[in-house]
Amino acid sequence: MKARAARRRTALVSLVRAFRDAAAALPDALVAIDDERRIRWFNTAAGRLLGLTWPDHLGHRVDEVVAIPGIREWIASGGAESLPDVTAPGDAEVHLGMRLIPYADDHALLLGRDISQVLRLEKVRRDFVANVSHELRTPLTVVHGYLDLIEPEQIPEYESILRELRNQSRRMTQIVEDLLTLSRLDAVDALPETRVAMGPLLRTLMRDAEGLSRGRHEITIEATSEHDLLGSPKDLYSAFSNLVSNAVRYTPVGGRIAIAWQTDTNGGRLAVRDTGHGISPQHLPRLTERFYRVSTSRSRETGGTGLGLSIVKHVLQLHGAHLEVHSEVGAGSTFACIFGAERLLPPEPLCEEA
Ligand code: ADP
Repeated sequence: MKARAARRRTALVSLVRAFRDAAAALPDALVAIDDERRIRWFNTAAGRLLGLTWPDHLGHRVDEVVAIPGIREWIASGGAESLPDVTAPGDAEVHLGMRLIPYADDHALLLGRDISQVLRLEKVRRDFVANVSHELRTPLTVVHGYLDLIEPEQIPEYESILRELRNQSRRMTQIVEDLLTLSRLDAVDALPETRVAMGPLLRTLMRDAEGLSRGRHEITIEATSEHDLLGSPKDLYSAFSNLVSNAVRYTPVGGRIAIAWQTDTNGGRLAVRDTGHGISPQHLPRLTERFYRVSTSRSRETGGTGLGLSIVKHVLQLHGAHLEVHSEVGAGSTFACIFGAERLLPPEPLCEEA
């Protein structure tokens, strides 16, 4: 009996050791913590990346010895959302994605994955798109400029070709401008902010819609709030006007379009509602992806670049806001920009005449 128990113990010990060796060899930082956030074990990568020393830091509270800003609050909140980009305390060159994975009773694994290479590739991709767009801008301006000098009617045999050339060069210019806008939004963490006067902005959007529609739709404003927004006027205008132009482009003649602005104690909602073609549910999650279109031909026919909603999403993200889409095929769509209450500014008091 004794001999069998001893053999079992040896087998168990070697199994545990094999597990620990495997975990120790992982390139990701791994720290096991108990219900009081004390360190029970950590692997070699955690030593190097999180600045921990074996065995000195065993038994210490992880949030006292791992120098990551905000780690205490993050762990206290349960760490359900990962920390997407953290500079490794043990190596400033390394970027980590941090996750907290609960296991057993109140224990957790703190996982730090080296994402430096992913971030580098992401930067290469962003720079490439920005550079290509920038390089294309000048030749396109030249082509566009020369095409504008030629009046297609004056050369009847090439009239249709010239018109098509003009259309395509205009489309390409718009794609390049949209890509540059996206690159600019991609490269910043915040935008310059000021009061965005919603009254005049709504009237401009209405005029834009009427210009695009040329009397083919019934367009209304439903503004029930006097509040303004705190944000980047240029970028918010660009986002909202993308929604308005989509509503006009994807709504058949005779349809209705409403631009609505409402606020309450929870925040503000700028919505563009149309009675257009609508979108079936399987497309909704992908609408804000670059170049994603429900119907490529319909988008092209109406002068779309496939980048409008991607710009909307980026602008809203930079304002801590988000896009909500409700749509029904054949009935219409509502695209709503949802802003937090901290973005709302009460109307400015009117200056009294002296
Ligand atoms: P595009 O330039 O093609 O309009 P967007 O990024 O603005 O690109 O929109 C992506 C796709 O979402 C569009 O191609 C279209 O299929 C669909 N879409 C956007 N707005 C509407 C709308 N108001 N009604 C119906 N479909 C829409």
